[in-house]
Amino acid sequence: MNEKILEGIDITYQYKTATEMVQAVNSISIEFNKGNLYAITGKSGSGKTTLLSLLAGLDVPKSGEILFEGKSLSKINRNAYRNKNIGMVFQSFNLLPHLTAIENVLIPLEIAKFSSSKRRKEKTIELLKSVGVDESQAKRKVLHLSGGEQQRVAIARALAVDPQIIFADEPTGNLDSETGEKILDLLLSIAHNEGKCVIAITHSEEVANRADTIFRMRDGKLCGV
Ligand code: ADP
Ligand code: MG
Repeated sequence: MNEKILEGIDITYQYKTATEMVQAVNSISIEFNKGNLYAITGKSGSGKTTLLSLLAGLDVPKSGEILFEGKSLSKINRNAYRNKNIGMVFQSFNLLPHLTAIENVLIPLEIAKFSSSKRRKEKTIELLKSVGVDESQAKRKVLHLSGGEQQRVAIARALAVDPQIIFADEPTGNLDSETGEKILDLLLSIAHNEGKCVIAITHSEEVANRADTIFRMRDGKLCGV
């Protein structure tokens, strides 16, 4: 699939501290299509997380424009964009450890007031199955699951409201390499088989090399694809 879904045009972002201005994202233009897995790589401090938070509508660029399905984020409701169209996955999973896997995945469906309580529970179990978490694991508190299992739960939670774009910041960063490979297989299948646009930040060249497209960042700029 080569349909464009998200585009950044000449976007810039600076942080002002007491002593300096940090040019975290410096005139980046970038495009993303459905059905692809993108890797964004670069050294620590190169601006990866800042770029992702702009694209996800968590921060507003100081200049330039971000277009979702051709519409500028400055002209659409940012909260609605985030709640309906974006799923987020983090290095540290960011789940509620004392809740079960099912309860964690239910949260976004409850916020979105998706269908009935019964249907939400069914959908949660289907989602968890689709990412490789079986029903007995699904009923466990997250703190009793392994890192790889927790990341699968986090991916199920990100998929719950059926967003078109999944952002992942170092999704395999806290996992051993074998488990990381399996999580990457899952993200690739979500892109290729479900037509989602998956955008993953990674330090790992091995992870980046399996992506459909690699964007490399240095000092807030893109330096070659
Ligand atoms: P990466 O994710 O590639 O490590 P970041 O986007 O986190 O890079 O950071 C890019 C630059 O912006 C770095 O120089 C970092 O120190 C700086 N930076 C990030 N967040 C802040 C902040 N909240 N305040 C000031 N500077 C920041
Ligand atoms: Mg970062």
